[in-house]
Amino acid sequence: MIETDIIIIGAGPVGLFTVFEAGLLKLRCHLIDALPQPGGQCSEIYPKKPIYDIPGIPEILAGDLVNDLLKQIEPFKPGFTLGDPAIDIEETADNQFIVTTREGIKHQAPNIAIAGGLGVFIPRKPPVPELKQFEGKGVEYIIKDPEDYRGKNVVISGGGDSALDWAIFLAEGVAEKVTLIHRSQSFRAHPDSVQKAMDMAKSGKIIMLLDAEVKSIGGNGELSDIHLTTKANGPITLNADNWLPLFGLTPKLGPIANWGLLIEKNAIKVDNSTDYSTNRDGIYAIGDVNTYPGKLKLILCGFHEATLMVQSAFKRVYPDKKNVLKYTTVSGVNGFD
Ligand SMILES: Cc1cc2nc3c(=O)[nH]c(=O)nc-3n(C[C@H](O)[C@H](O)[C@H](O)COP(=O)(O)OP(=O)(O)OC[C@H]3O[C@@H](n4cnc5c(N)ncnc54)[C@H](O)[C@@H]3O)c2cc1C
Repeated sequence: MIETDIIIIGAGPVGLFTVFEAGLLKLRCHLIDALPQPGGQCSEIYPKKPIYDIPGIPEILAGDLVNDLLKQIEPFKPGFTLGDPAIDIEETADNQFIVTTREGIKHQAPNIAIAGGLGVFIPRKPPVPELKQFEGKGVEYIIKDPEDYRGKNVVISGGGDSALDWAIFLAEGVAEKVTLIHRSQSFRAHPDSVQKAMDMAKSGKIIMLLDAEVKSIGGNGELSDIHLTTKANGPITLNADNWLPLFGLTPKLGPIANWGLLIEKNAIKVDNSTDYSTNRDGIYAIGDVNTYPGKLKLILCGFHEATLMVQSAFKRVYPDKKNVLKYTTVSGVNGFD
């Protein structure tokens, strides 16, 4: 049994920062994540993309933000259970929770902070019969490291932000050739990205095939051919090293939906007038996983939620102690031995 003060389910940016804010109050934390590495969406979906709206940091790659958060929480020595989803929450008679993972690891604490983000990541896959055969052999749904595509002939499908942003990024000196295939003439992506991609198509940096759809793929072990139909030119075949069907990720709350919490719009309803508590005492939901009027799914909003949430967690650990707010400029960061 792993015992701690706060069990944090989800080691995304918000879960990680919770460790820091809890640590300032002398509360210990243990993080559980289904993914094998910490960082949530920042590590899994867009580690090499720059973020511009972290206060005081004009620009930072998502992966670097995760590294910095990990460094920031080091003094508080959090525990990690990674690559193993939390599947069950049990409440004991003395107001403690026991969280069990799929592999049967048990964690006990008087507080649970659910920072589960979008839940489990499941990519939307196109209906191409040979897809499974080429997964990991040229077909990828998430770009972890753009360097994997350096000098490659890359074909991207999709009309949303992810497809356009990556087409632009890879075409700016990373891949040798980038072809963007989209099944209509209009895009769902941000207008700035659409304009930029169009400009790059005009200057020949991106080959754009609109009203086109991939129907089948082939290759000898590794992907090499992509067969598509186009409105303008009928069926055509492209040679490619990689096909990236970027049709987005379907958010699946997964086990979180079974924990007796109020769920609305695929997120956990919380009380945002106080401490982001759920309908179950001692269980809080912070970051992308929660919902309340006016909710914004932004990292900085999650950081704020974590900061308020730990105040209530403190009261459950030390019901007789009063917590007085101390500036870090005054108190410094006093970690655990
Ligand atoms: C392409 C892209 C660009 C973005 N750009 C920005 C930006 O510029 N600025 C900004 O503020 N935000 C941006 N965001 C949004 C930002 O990434 C999210 O707001 C942020 O990641 C939310 O953090 P989180 O910790 O709440 O959740 P997440 O990062 O989603 O992490 C949640 C973690 O919980 C884990 N989990 C879920 N269920 C379980 C379970 N049952 N057991 C164990 N683990 C579980 C998941 O595996 C995941 O690792 C962007 C998002 C995307 C996709």
